[in-house]
Amino acid sequence: MEFIDLATQQKRIIEKIETNIKTILQHGKYIMGPEVYVLEETLSKYVSTKYTVSCASGTDALLMALMAYNIGQGDAVFTTPFTFFATAEVISLLGATPMFVDIDPDTFNIDPQKLEHAIRQLSRQAPGNTLRPRAVIAVDLFGLTADYDAIHAITQKYQVALIEDAAQSFGADYKNRKACSFGDIACTSFFPAKPLGCYGDGGMCFTNDSQIEAKLKSIRVHGQGDHKYDNVRIGINGRLDTLQAAILLAKFEIFAEEIKLRQEVALRYEKLLSPISTLKTPSVPEGYRSAWAQYSILAQNTKQRKALQDALDQGQIPTAIYYPKPLHLQEAFSFLPYSSGDFPICENVAQRIFSLPMHPYLKLEDQEKIAQTLRSAV
Ligand SMILES: *Cc1c(COP(=O)(O)O)cnc(C)c1O
Repeated sequence: MEFIDLATQQKRIIEKIETNIKTILQHGKYIMGPEVYVLEETLSKYVSTKYTVSCASGTDALLMALMAYNIGQGDAVFTTPFTFFATAEVISLLGATPMFVDIDPDTFNIDPQKLEHAIRQLSRQAPGNTLRPRAVIAVDLFGLTADYDAIHAITQKYQVALIEDAAQSFGADYKNRKACSFGDIACTSFFPAKPLGCYGDGGMCFTNDSQIEAKLKSIRVHGQGDHKYDNVRIGINGRLDTLQAAILLAKFEIFAEEIKLRQEVALRYEKLLSPISTLKTPSVPEGYRSAWAQYSILAQNTKQRKALQDALDQGQIPTAIYYPKPLHLQEAFSFLPYSSGDFPICENVAQRIFSLPMHPYLKLEDQEKIAQTLRSAV
């Protein structure tokens, strides 16, 4: 059994992938070839945002988004401590300060009430406050979007930028809108294991603001101005490879169907696992549809989690822990003034959570075996 089965997917579209790659070998436009622009337009339509700027990874998408707002020294950027490292890494990379906010215990996403409290505290002209609130990076963890109605109201009120880290949620819905359409800039990743993945690294920024689009495009190529050797700002080399764009175009043809299949897999898990009283299955609030990048459940405690993972492992069922260590407890962030106990919900979840195999091609028999193994082990 695979944790994420990319081979079955490849079998379905191998001919299209080979054709697309051959086309590129023939036209030779390896950098910013026509496929890159077709992909940008295709995904722009799918998400319903005016502009898309493809780039080399989800991390670059986040970095470019912060750079588009000139975020740096003295700026506070609010985010969740329960995410992949890159979300907060880019904040520090630019010399800005990550400010963590605890999560909602059911969705595992940033808690809007706590977010507002944190921004309000920093907005006060108190003597110790040397940082300015500048942006929020909300993360759509495991494919479930954050609560954008609530978060957007807060970022509007405090006049800070809202960036959606949609690395895990491409294809998800929130109140009839697609993930990647929230905030001032949304960022996704095409890392192979994400809901829409390429065969390498890739990413994309989405925005409805033409000035931001222009800045992102400039930042993507060394801060380019009017022509190739005119540089108007500091940027990066953040382009998406033409080959990766071509692979994404092939995969996108079956993407909507795959998102549906993921719903079916998740629904079957819910039916099989929710009767197991000591486990907590994922909560999907009314009006949300997850992209199910991961199917993550909560054990009662670390000891039970270990026992369950061991039992699954013995049955050759792969599992993973996203994420075992909250960001505020990472050594890399030890220069920040955080310690254990600061974000109790996040810390508790990190001790109990683990993820089961999840992909569009997961078979009912495999899910039944997983459920049976969990039932006998609890
Ligand atoms: C994967 C991921 C990223 C980084 O994307 P890359 O393409 O690997 O650089 C950022 N944030 C979150 C939440 C992710 O899951």
